[in-house]
Amino acid sequence: NDFIRRAEAVYGDRIGVVDEPDQPAAGLGSLTYREVAALARRQAAKLDELGIGVGDRVAVVSQNSARLLVSFFGISGSGRVLVPVNFRLSADEVAYIVEHSGARVLIVDPELDDALAGVHAEFRFVIGKDEDLYAAEDAEPGHWQPDEAATATINYTSGTTARPKGVQLTHRNIWTNAMTFALHAGVTDRDVYLHTLPMFHANGWGMPFAAAGVGVPQIVLRKVDGAEILRRIEQHGVTLLCAAPAVVASVLEAARKWDGEVPGADRARIVVAGAPPPTKMVTRVEPELGWEFIQIYGLTETSPLLTINRSRAEWDGLAAEERAANLVRAGSPALGVQLRVDEEGEVLARSNVVLEGYWGQPEETAKALDGDWFHTGDGGRIGDDGYLTISDRKKDVIITGGENVSSIEVEDCLFSHPAVAEVAVIGVPSEKWGETIKALVVPAPGVEVSEVELIAWCKQRLAGYKAPTSIEFRAHLARTTTGKLQKFKLRRQYWTGQERQVN
Ligand code: ATP
Repeated sequence: NDFIRRAEAVYGDRIGVVDEPDQPAAGLGSLTYREVAALARRQAAKLDELGIGVGDRVAVVSQNSARLLVSFFGISGSGRVLVPVNFRLSADEVAYIVEHSGARVLIVDPELDDALAGVHAEFRFVIGKDEDLYAAEDAEPGHWQPDEAATATINYTSGTTARPKGVQLTHRNIWTNAMTFALHAGVTDRDVYLHTLPMFHANGWGMPFAAAGVGVPQIVLRKVDGAEILRRIEQHGVTLLCAAPAVVASVLEAARKWDGEVPGADRARIVVAGAPPPTKMVTRVEPELGWEFIQIYGLTETSPLLTINRSRAEWDGLAAEERAANLVRAGSPALGVQLRVDEEGEVLARSNVVLEGYWGQPEETAKALDGDWFHTGDGGRIGDDGYLTISDRKKDVIITGGENVSSIEVEDCLFSHPAVAEVAVIGVPSEKWGETIKALVVPAPGVEVSEVELIAWCKQRLAGYKAPTSIEFRAHLARTTTGKLQKFKLRRQYWTGQERQVN
């Protein structure tokens, strides 16, 4: 609540949040930071009235909205634990999270009310329908002295690999992440932030907090689509946004069709994370959009910021390819982060952003933490200059004929072919090799390309064993709400009845 308190005291008259204009009943329009703070206090007072104590969990299932932003401060800012839930989950999955986290209160987006009708908690509110989600205007919540070590949120992992686990983040975790992000990405009160990421996801990379702390207006976006993003940037003078590579691809596509100069050119910065950006994309962002390209790497378990890659003064005069080769890496450790790579090539991190534990799963916590070193599950290497390069997730490494192949490397190679719009490289069972490499490719619109041609393209550029042995063309690929490939889903049809051995 320090973030919102400062926003109210210093930037009270400033726009704090702008809802989607066509938002249904739940919309609040625009709120100043003073109004955001007042609503957060009324929400905290309401929780007092209901007898919800410090440390009790409050789950919110909502698309991005002003009310969701308010709840970040009303719930965790008053000592309760916010459980932000992915709005794309099925009723069963939401019920699992509500039950697993022991949430006493459930707050539901009105659009999801019917779908989630069967999900219950001791108190259930539908946003916009139940005005008593907030106490009376003059109600004052009880005083809560922030405790750095207390749990602030439980973020359930998006489940690209397994059943979601509840990542317990403390106030210290969130504070550290917001401060280091603001420091390294240079967030100031001249910025305007566009929420393209769902806020439930590792706090949309901590932006609700970092932005409030320095009075940055936050623009809410529900439909994540390239053209829509460009329109919002133009309309609100957005200077900062975060996006997964899949979203960046749709922005690049929309910018090609945009009439006139791309909005935000020479001003905006785009923070790319969540998955490795292909080299071709890194090369295109700055010349085609005129936005600064920043990459970050991290996990829900690390609040998330571990490394950041932002162009350095020394790179200014470099040729485009060299610049891209520098920027494509995950980056240098953020302030306070220590990294090491163990004998098996796995990246471990030690920092104040590392999770407290997995809620109710001490054995999972013990597996993930080696003392205070956290196992990221990602393979990587650290260069002489201290920059981290992610080679692959351990689970996505393909072992073919005893050789380890990084699916990222093969994807990057295929991506450099002009006919490839999207690609996922997976291991499929093979009697001869154990696993063999398959690429699932979404072709660029209107371009013809054959399996033989793409395999030959890889053979010319990679060691022979790294080239896919088969290519399948698809209309789209399964992704999470944050734009990550769901490789376990993509792999599933090829592994029926067989267990995939992962290291
Ligand atoms: P689950 O843990 O259930 O599988 P998830 O993988 O979506 O869900 P997140 O915490 O959202 O969980 O994702 C973190 C992962 O995203 C990292 O471990 C890493 O594999 C990948 N990632 C994030 N940023 C980058 C980046 N800049 N480059 C490469 N990979 C990245």
